[in-house]
Amino acid sequence: MIPGSFAYHRPTSVKEAVGLLAQWGDDGRVLAGGHSLIPMMKLRLAMPAHLVDLAGITELKGIRVEGNDVVIGAMVTQHELVGSELLSGKVPLLRETSLQVADPQVRYVGTIGGNVANGDPGNDMPALMMTLGASYRLEGKSGGRDVAASEFYQGAYFTALEPGELLTAISIPVPPAGHGYAYEKLKRKVGDYATAAAAVVLTMAGGKVATCQIGLTNLSETPLLAEDAAKAVIGTSLDPATLKKAAAAAEAIMSPAADARGPVEYRKHVGGIMVMRALQRAAGRAR
Ligand SMILES: Cc1cc2nc3c(=O)[nH]c(=O)nc-3n(C[C@H](O)[C@H](O)[C@H](O)COP(=O)(O)OP(=O)(O)OC[C@H]3O[C@@H](n4cnc5c(N)ncnc54)[C@H](O)[C@@H]3O)c2cc1C
Repeated sequence: MIPGSFAYHRPTSVKEAVGLLAQWGDDGRVLAGGHSLIPMMKLRLAMPAHLVDLAGITELKGIRVEGNDVVIGAMVTQHELVGSELLSGKVPLLRETSLQVADPQVRYVGTIGGNVANGDPGNDMPALMMTLGASYRLEGKSGGRDVAASEFYQGAYFTALEPGELLTAISIPVPPAGHGYAYEKLKRKVGDYATAAAAVVLTMAGGKVATCQIGLTNLSETPLLAEDAAKAVIGTSLDPATLKKAAAAAEAIMSPAADARGPVEYRKHVGGIMVMRALQRAAGRAR
């Protein structure tokens, strides 16, 4: 349970961090809150020769509004997401989901950047970001680029991040006023990763669903957007038959692992239930 040896670096700017990472390629690794990386290093599943700690980079902190987007710095902790009045007002789904991540001790240190960059299918934020239409700002030696969250996840722990690139910020388009939202997460106990979870953002008009996005957590190697399920509810008042249809459409794209959280069929079944519950709760909140 002791990590291999590594050199520790603590840059004070993104430019310096990118410069350090560029020197080592795959031998360098970014350290944010360390709540995913340090356990991996202790198990020797990760053995970086160089750790670049982002904790001293103030430009990676802060939550601000830019035009119609909320922009969150990569080093904002999950605890800070929970406490942000700006987020509670503009993207309340983020606060609701943050409260479902792990426990307060993990949230005090774990960061939003680490959560979305890690590529762990069990992390809650990636599916949420896809549901909200978020994009990630990546900075590397040859410059910056923006990647949609929906294009970022390519496999378990495999993302669009190139060696030496840093995720610096997340931009989330503010959902329309009066939107409904919900994150439903089934877990074995408080602090656990999801057995299955679903995020919903929708708008209602005249008692019918006008727009809808549905995201799924830990039901595949990557977070998923359940596009057919979302289409199935448009123009409906979410009657029981429609809810079942949406759940079936979502289950059709799930391919969870059979693990300590349950066999495949069970996890797909409860995944469908999370979708139905999230749709109902989101609709109840929409104005
Ligand atoms: C007991 C426990 C329970 C947990 N339960 C949950 C849960 O229910 N839901 C959930 O979502 N998460 C859970 N987590 C994970 C937790 O939220 C982590 O903190 C988070 O996933 C990673 O964030 P971090 O800041 O700790 O990143 P780190 O562990 O420092 O980094 C994780 C990975 O991302 C890379 N990275 C970090 N930041 C950046 C960046 N800015 N740019 C590029 N790469 C970067 C690192 O190099 C590393 O590969 C749990 C963790 C623990 C220990």
